[in-house]
Parts: sequence; structure tokens; C-alpha cells
Amino acid sequence: MSAPATTRTETLVVTDVVKEYAGAGYVVRPLDGLSFTAHAGQLVVLLGPSGSGKSTLLSCLGGMLSPTSGSIRLGDVEVTGLSGRSLNDYRRASVGFVFQGFNLVPSLTALENVAMPLLVTRACPRREAMARAEERLVEVGLADRLDHRPGALSGGQQQRVAVARGLVTDPALLIADEPTANLDHVQAESVIRLLRELRAQGRIIVVSTHDARMVPIADQVVQMASHGAEPEAAEATVEHAAGEVVFRQNDHADLVYVIESGRVEVYRELADGGEESLVTLDQGKYFGELGALLGFPRSASVRAVTDVVLTALAPNEFRARMEQAQGPS
Ligand code: ADP
Ligand code: MG
Repeated sequence: MSAPATTRTETLVVTDVVKEYAGAGYVVRPLDGLSFTAHAGQLVVLLGPSGSGKSTLLSCLGGMLSPTSGSIRLGDVEVTGLSGRSLNDYRRASVGFVFQGFNLVPSLTALENVAMPLLVTRACPRREAMARAEERLVEVGLADRLDHRPGALSGGQQQRVAVARGLVTDPALLIADEPTANLDHVQAESVIRLLRELRAQGRIIVVSTHDARMVPIADQVVQMASHGAEPEAAEATVEHAAGEVVFRQNDHADLVYVIESGRVEVYRELADGGEESLVTLDQGKYFGELGALLGFPRSASVRAVTDVVLTALAPNEFRARMEQAQGPS
């Protein structure tokens, strides 16, 4: 086999990263103070359901999106401090990308697809680009598929080509956004095994998934949504005076509330600082169940309109209560 890629020693340090979007008129905060450190040669799995901010975080790591606040460092580069040309250089030289949909060019061979990042940036002469592409295809186990076009390859093989393309610039960081989502389990396993092997040269591999089956193969798991923290507090009574806020939009959602007496208002906090009233709820109604059951942050805020008495339930208690209310089926 040809010369191995450089051995990497960079550490990835993510500190208190917040990302807010204000697109639809209200603020969504998929990343709310996220921190983790990945060392050279580690495979990190970002685990969370759809909408938990996995793609957002990967885009921030890749320098394609700028966090609202917080810091991302790769080696001695402060990524969040880069702009213009230096940011472009970071994206090209330090990061490799692998996408769920492979994103290969159908009319090009595997070899040409892999060489593409070097060819479009004219990082090296064509001959050398092809040689490096071949090395990476050998590394991902496709030495015998160099001249195949994507249409002649299986899904798993196409994703291997995409991985080889992500590696062709010899990046310190390879990020893969749900790379196995479109594969059957046999092909998914081979791609996962490959990603594990790629740690060898000190590369940091960050893979997002909603599939908890990836957990055992990770060196580190970054939990993107808050299921882990089931509150230990069992059923409890909570009182709020009129005007007090029960919880706020984007807060971590842990409890479901049942109204014992009084009235609350559910409202959305808008990006312009205003608010939009969604609904008022009275005795016997409950709120906050979806965030708590699904592990999503609060999608709206709730305040007491009158003095209220609430019963706060952990999601499993709430579930049990609903089943009881429905009776045996
Ligand atoms: P995941 O990859 O875990 O499914 P995403 O990072 O794609 O999560 O999205 C996290 C949240 O941010 C979602 O609520 C999504 O709707 C929202 N979001 C993502 N991109 C944008 C955007 N460009 N503008 C507004 N909201 C966005
Ligand atoms: Mg995503």
C-alpha cells in the first residue's frame, strides 16, 4: 500500500457553543452551551433525535456556520475567530465532509469523485491528485472499484467513496452527518467499521446519528438531547403567583405539568423581542408533555395568569397516569 497519511495530533475543544436561529420569527436554540473535547484518534458520536442540532453542530465544526457564542478550537486554530480566506483555508485543509446522501457526481468515476476536492481547489497537479485519490480509495477498501461510476456501486460502496473523498485533503477532522441513514444494516456496519479504522492516523472523526446502536463503538458520546437526565424528583406540587413564568422557550424540558387550580398562558417568544399568545389552559389540563416525552427543549414559554397550583410529573409518571386514565385496553 502507498504511503500513509500524516499522523495528526490536534485536539478539538468545543466550549459553551450556542447557536440560535431566528428564521421563522421566533428563536430556536438547538445548541445551548454545548462543550466537549475530542483528542487525536477519537471517534465521537453525536447522538440525538431529529431536530436536536446535530447538523448545526457539524456545520459549526466545519466552519460553514458561525456559532452565536462560544468557542471551537482545532489544534491551535480558533475556528470561531476565522473569517474570509482563513476560514476558507480551514474548511479546505482541515476538515473532510461526508453526507447522508453521499453527494457523488454520477458522471464521474470513483477516482475522479475522490480527487475532486483537490482538483477544484488546484491544491496540487492533476497527476498527484489522482495518486492521492487512489491511496484513499485503497484505504477504504475499494482498490478494485477505481473506474466505477456511482451508479455501478452499492450504497455502502458509494458511501466509502464519499469517505475517501472526505479524506483526500488529509484533514485533521472528518465529520460525517448521519452517514449510515440510507444504508441497510450490513452496509451500515461496514461503513461504521471503516470510520473506526480511520482513527488510526490520529484523525478526529465526528459522526452524527439518531441511532443509539452506534454508542458502543464510540470513544466518546455527545448527547444532543436531554433524555439522559430523567428528574429524580417524583410527583411534586408547584405553586406560582399570577405573572410568574413556569418555564421558558428553549429551556431543557424535564417535567410535565398538570393544572390543579388556576390558569396559565402558553406563549411564543419572538425574535423581535415580542411575544405571541398561543393558548390559555385551565384546571385539569396539562402542558409541557411533548418536550419532556421527546427530549426536545421547550417550544414555548408558560406563565401563570392567576395564582396557580400545578402537579409536576416526570415523563414516566405522566405516561403511567395517561395509561391509567385510558383504562385497560
Ligand atoms: P438535526 O441534524 O439533529 O436533525 P438540525 O441541526 O438540523 O438538527 O436542526 C436543529 C434545529 O434548528 C431544528 O429545530 C431546525 O428546524 C433548526 N434549524 C436548522 N437550520 C436552520 C436554519 N437555517 N434556520 C432556522 N432554523 C434552523
Ligand atoms: Mg441533521
